Parts: sequence; C-alpha cells; structure tokens
Amino acid sequence: MRKLIAGNWKMNGVAADLGAARDIAEGIGKAGRDVTVMLCPPATLLDRMTGMAVGTPLLIGGQDCHASRSGAHTGDISAEMLADAGASAVIVGHSERRTDHRESDETVRAKAEAAARAGLTAIICVGETEAERDAGKALSVVEAQLDGSVPRLDPAGLVIAYEPVWAIGTGKTPTADDIAVMHHHIRSWLTDRFGAAGGQVAILYGGSMKPTNAAEILAIADVDGGLVGGASLQAADFLTIVSAAKSN
Ligand code: PEP
Repeated sequence: MRKLIAGNWKMNGVAADLGAARDIAEGIGKAGRDVTVMLCPPATLLDRMTGMAVGTPLLIGGQDCHASRSGAHTGDISAEMLADAGASAVIVGHSERRTDHRESDETVRAKAEAAARAGLTAIICVGETEAERDAGKALSVVEAQLDGSVPRLDPAGLVIAYEPVWAIGTGKTPTADDIAVMHHHIRSWLTDRFGAAGGQVAILYGGSMKPTNAAEILAIADVDGGLVGGASLQAADFLTIVSAAKSN
C-alpha cells in the first residue's frame, strides 16, 4: 500500500512558519514521490497553506471538525468548511481532544461521518494510556475505541491512526513487536468489519515518530504510514521521515 505521512502541527504555527510548509511541499519530489504527504495546520493557516500547496503534491488536512454542517456552535468548524478551505482530510478523535474536550467514541464517530459527508478522508485516532497498557488492556481498549468510533460507511474514506497516548510527545515508543501486534489486531478488526475493503484502509502509527526511528517503525507489517506531531514542524526532520517511508 502507498504510505501516508501526515504531519499534525497541533496549536503551533503562524504566518512566519509557512516557509517550513513550503520547504516540505517543494522537498516531496526528492524525498518521496511515491509517498502521500499531508500537513494538518491550525485552522488559521488552512486557507493560506492550501493556497501555497496548489500545484505541489502536498495535501492539507484539518485537525478536528464539528459533526454538524453549520449552526450555532461558536468557535467550531464544520467538515464542509474544511473542504471549502481546500482540505482533503481531517483528524478526528486525537487523544488530546478526547482528553481536553472529553470527546467520546460516539462524538468521534459523528465527526468521522461528517467528514465523509463533506468528502474528506477521516483520520480516526485510537490508542491506550500507559496505565491501560501496563494492565494488559491495550488491545481491548483500542478494539472498544474502534467499535465506538468507526462509522459503518464505505471504508474508502477512512484512515486509522494508532497513537498510544503515552508515546505522544514523550520520546517514548512501543517496541516494534508491540506495534506489530497492535497493527495486526487493527487490521483484523477492519477486515472483520469491512471484508476485503478493510485490507485497503491505511493504518498509521503515531507517537514520537522521529527521523531516528521512522525507518524501523515504517518497516513493520501493517504500518501504512505515520501521524507525526513534533517532528513535522521542521521541514528537514519531516522530509527525512517521508524518505524513510519511500524506502519501505
Ligand atoms: C500526535 O500528536 O499526533 C503525535 C504523534 O505527536 P508526536 O509525534 O509529537 O508524539
């Protein structure tokens, strides 16, 4: 499967940082023509970044959306608005939103449905906490999140991102074996739910993916790409990860 490397800028980036996005857009040709590359900037930069990316292979995504099309939801952004701004995807259910905004699986599923309604790819995040892993519950926790968060829709517009909460922004990563076991588990869940089409859903790994560990992680079976936070803010680091995806 063609790999997808998506950068999540989170609440980072102002106009002065668009140069990094431009460097990434221009560097994709050399780093990885055979890799799909996406940046998910804060909403304030979406319009400018999509404008800058026109004519380049760089795709742009949102970091969250509301489940409704429009209405009285101060501060929220609909999937249709993201599409209108030129986004082709949206991250839903990131652990920071599940925690900071108390988003339930049901909310995440409604957002993923909204993404499909607007023609966007939904990158649905799942992942266990450290306590849940230590208690031997990582697989069952992730399975429950999949049961609750993944819509019963055409899976063509779905991407799953496995992001262990304890690995995000910490410099810690699971062992290669643990990633392989989890991605295999997610793949089995997808094929149980969607049949053969579930075999075509990309499963990204996210959590402290860096230039130093990307090649090893991206070589693991059923790791179809990465969701990259901190290392997506520097063009050189991000392009090194894109190159690692190309060689796998
Ligand atoms: C993320 O938040 O999606 C993420 C993977 O962050 P980091 O790469 O910084 O751990």
